[in-house]
Amino acid sequence: MANTGNLLIRGGTVIDPARNIHGQQDVLIRGNSFVDIMPGEDVEAEEIVEATGSLVMPGLIDNHTHCFYGGTELGFVPDPSLLPMGVTTAVDQGSSGIASCDSFMQTVVNHSQMRIFCTINVSPTGIITERYPENLDPRNYSLERLHELFQRYPERLVGLKVRQGREMVGELGLSPLKAAVQLGNELGCRVTVHAADAPGDVADLVSILRVGDVLCHCYHGKGSTIIDRNGKVRSEVRAARANGVIFDSADARIHHSYPVIKAALADGFFPDVISTDLTRASLFGTMVFGLPAVMSKYLSLGLSLPQVVKACTATPAGLIGMAGKLGTFAAGAFADVAIFHLTEKAFLFKNRLGEAFRGSKLLIPQMTILNGKIMFRQIDFFEAGA
Ligand SMILES: [Zn+2]
Repeated sequence: MANTGNLLIRGGTVIDPARNIHGQQDVLIRGNSFVDIMPGEDVEAEEIVEATGSLVMPGLIDNHTHCFYGGTELGFVPDPSLLPMGVTTAVDQGSSGIASCDSFMQTVVNHSQMRIFCTINVSPTGIITERYPENLDPRNYSLERLHELFQRYPERLVGLKVRQGREMVGELGLSPLKAAVQLGNELGCRVTVHAADAPGDVADLVSILRVGDVLCHCYHGKGSTIIDRNGKVRSEVRAARANGVIFDSADARIHHSYPVIKAALADGFFPDVISTDLTRASLFGTMVFGLPAVMSKYLSLGLSLPQVVKACTATPAGLIGMAGKLGTFAAGAFADVAIFHLTEKAFLFKNRLGEAFRGSKLLIPQMTILNGKIMFRQIDFFEAGA
């Protein structure tokens, strides 16, 4: 008897770093999950997607976005923006705080087709605007209100966010981060820290972080960076990684510097997570565009396909408590798929530091599948028999 499913993706090059798979394979979907195909097994499906010549990846996870549309100035509408990029899961990093979390859940998270997770800002307002920073005085934090929200949204709230940049913390020094980590201990959750242009030395900052905490904008170029005077990665930063701190690129328009990235990669310090820090201001723009463009940048910088795909699937899935359920083709995982063409094409990336980077490999989205349903198809990407 044949193995049956609703949708078969045939002949593509599958990349599933969670299971160390990189090669030609078929992917079978039944309902909203993946089904294993045994070698040589007969397969029948209602619909077939012909993917020969394409890369077939688990639905991508953008671990750093700002999609609180309607509640913040920088929030974009997630579904129409991200699904055409192969992104099926987004993590909003601290757009909302205790004062606005309910509204974010009710107006965006629960009304989106794609999966949205979020960290909650320790500042009660979250990040309403970029025109002035949120108030990060720890006296305004509320363990009680945070506790209530973590109980109300246990499946969506995945940690705390604190922006530790000099322009946000002012005279407060490292006290917002220290207070956030204390809250993280009380709540039993991870803390993501915006580390770009933090006051003081990066060694002091990483010494506060615990196993599983996330340092985002890890390749930033302002203030104390992860690179030392000899162009090598700081020993304290390497020690933090060895102790279980996670490093997320979260490039944004201004939170990455090519000399820092190049020095780090040359020294073997690769990003655990590759994400965009996408906002309404950078969406489809020439400095960030979206996750496929940022992935293309790291491919052009010399990372391998499995390295890049892992940083946008298996690793962030683990951070949001969805290992084995998202970011993999493992049997029983949610049937989210991103199909791409990888082309040799020159492109130019600039950033707000005035640096430029010329890339040569470009991932072009062809099809996005969410819960077994086709959500996006490139106009010239047809299936067999269509
Ligand atoms: Zn951000």
